[in-house]
Amino acid sequence: MSPQTLTLLGSTGSIGQSTLAVVRLHPERYRIFALCAHRQWEKLREQCREFQPDYAVVGEAKDALSLQDELRKMRLKTEVLHGPEALCQVAAAAEADMVMAAIVGAAGLPSALAAARAGKKILLANKESLVMAGALFMQTARENGARVLPVDSEHNAIFQSLPHDFSGDWAQGGIRKLWLTASGGPFLDFSADALLRVTPKQAIQHPRWSMGQKISVDSATLMNKGLEVIEAHWLFNAPPEAIEVVVHPQSVIHSLVEYVDGSMLAQLGNPDMRAPIAHALAWPERVASGVQSLDLCQIARLDFRAPDKARFPSLQLAYDALRMGGAASAILNAANEVAVAAFLEGRLSFPGIPRCIEAVLDAMLPMPAGTLETIQFADAAARREATKGVKK
Ligand code: NAD
Ligand code: MG
Repeated sequence: MSPQTLTLLGSTGSIGQSTLAVVRLHPERYRIFALCAHRQWEKLREQCREFQPDYAVVGEAKDALSLQDELRKMRLKTEVLHGPEALCQVAAAAEADMVMAAIVGAAGLPSALAAARAGKKILLANKESLVMAGALFMQTARENGARVLPVDSEHNAIFQSLPHDFSGDWAQGGIRKLWLTASGGPFLDFSADALLRVTPKQAIQHPRWSMGQKISVDSATLMNKGLEVIEAHWLFNAPPEAIEVVVHPQSVIHSLVEYVDGSMLAQLGNPDMRAPIAHALAWPERVASGVQSLDLCQIARLDFRAPDKARFPSLQLAYDALRMGGAASAILNAANEVAVAAFLEGRLSFPGIPRCIEAVLDAMLPMPAGTLETIQFADAAARREATKGVKK
């Protein structure tokens, strides 16, 4: 069997590096076709040294020149490209069997969509693609025979707990609800008063998962769970009222499916993204991920509680945007990205993040989300509106 080829979008990030850790275990099964990063070209150089891809993509032309120069010195044949178009090119290339979409934020949408248009097997970590363009993305995948495999741990758990032949028909599957688990983030027990003073450094110190900065802040505000509600809606054809969130601080149960007979099926494991990554890579087979066995006796207990929507209003804002339809979720996502960046730079308080998002949703008129262009138009308008609400 010849190895399957992979384009890895966002290779220098947290998910990107975990993906390479799994690929490293299975050189006979997987070969890297393209590695893509944004600014960290030196880290990318080291990844190229090890995995020898056909292509490497960076954001800027000057970094592409430096990288190409060094790769030549290393006698590698890797061709270096740059810019957003090049991301779409390697995502859609005929030589790539699979695409791991692990760029963070709205920047990940065009290349993920290009992979859908090219009918790839898509390992989807970039949840923002579905939040911004869920209808368009899923329709494009369907029309072009692309298979979307969720990498987000909750959605991967749900995918594993659904009937194997699940086609989106809830009545046929006997499904009543989806339960997304949330760790609750680092501020789970902070009072509303204490939340006023939390710092970026505290926010990016997640108690269970090691992740990129943006998703770590999203986990702290519970916006990550809000984005995941929207993601679940599109992936599994789930009505908003059938998607529940439960706080589970140990992050051992990664999510559950509730059936009409009262059964709940769940996927459990150590909180380590290599498990869902390996699942999506190998699906429908299974391969080793490097993740340790879960020691149930050591964990001893599993706790659950309802999320506090008063202290963490972002979760409700996401349900609201999902129900509004059109480009409302793209507007929510854009406002969140601006607010999180401002928080990380010390220009906005932690409770200022949901306040900024709510103000943007209130200020903007309904907008359509039928094409990539209309979605990007709404995204840009929401960024301008959000920028008004944060300090320069
Ligand atoms: P990260 O910040 O660690 O890495 C982001 C990657 O995207 C980097 O390789 C960076 O070079 C690239 N990138 C950033 N901006 C870019 C741009 N404009 N153009 C091209 N590339 C760009 O992020 P992460 O934590 O790995 O998260 C990646 C995605 O996976 C996010 O959408 C996140 O929500 C999702 N996700 C992450 C985790 C996790 O455990 N980290 C879990 C579930 C889902
Ligand atoms: Mg998740």
